[in-house]
Amino acid sequence: MTSGNLYNHLERLSEILRTDLRKSGIEHGLQPVQLEVLHYLSVCNRYSDTPLAVTEYLGQTKGTVSQTIKVLEQKRLLQKRNDTEDKRVSHLSLTPRGSKLLDQLVPPPMLTKASDKLPERTRKQINQALQQLVMALLQSNGMKSFGVCHTCRYNLHSKDGGYFCNLVKQALTEDDVERLCREHETVG
Ligand code: SF4
Repeated sequence: MTSGNLYNHLERLSEILRTDLRKSGIEHGLQPVQLEVLHYLSVCNRYSDTPLAVTEYLGQTKGTVSQTIKVLEQKRLLQKRNDTEDKRVSHLSLTPRGSKLLDQLVPPPMLTKASDKLPERTRKQINQALQQLVMALLQSNGMKSFGVCHTCRYNLHSKDGGYFCNLVKQALTEDDVERLCREHETVG
């Protein structure tokens, strides 16, 4: 398959999903970028929940992200808290209202409906292939991977069966290792 064919499929897929998300967002007075910020914050880890990380992940300008955060705060979908050690840094998280709304909209019900029709094996294959494609795309273009913690080269298994981040030198929970991280580096 050529990259042209691949592009056609991906473009069609992203357009269908984006149109659907735009429609359901409008019903709640939200723009696609506002939903993207909420979604990112629902899957990132505690080292990656800053406005800067959101900017890097979405590839948006600082101004757009800052404006988006302000609107989401006003709508009581997102909350900010200052870092305990560095007051210049703020951490963002979804409010219960934001989580509830996101659960309704993401993943888009139309995707769930289609995916449920596929055999489990096919779903796994598609998932793995897309994961590989995303990684290849990011690596070959020198972009941050924002990968899942348990696939990071800094993620170590501690003796007690837990996990430890060898970069920030902190213990990680079961929940931490399933989340996206801006410091993620793929294993060698
Ligand atoms: S192990 Fe890697 S992905 Fe996990 S917290 Fe540490 S740097 Fe981030």
